[in-house]
Amino acid sequence: MATPKSRVSHSRTHKRKSEWIGGLSAPETTACPHCGEVIRNYTACGECGYYRGRKVLKGASESEKEA
Ligand SMILES: [Zn+2]
Repeated sequence: MATPKSRVSHSRTHKRKSEWIGGLSAPETTACPHCGEVIRNYTACGECGYYRGRKVLKGASESEKEA
């Protein structure tokens, strides 16, 4: 197994990660098809609790009543 030749400092690690994670810290967002709230892709809406046309979250606000 390969072994690191020398210890990498916190500074160097964090500098590298800041570049790398920086690209990941801005997730794609989309509008909730149910209530129009801006949500992250592939996540349930925090406002209405809907994901892909189905209510998946219990704790979300019950502003709209299902028929
Ligand atoms: Zn919603």
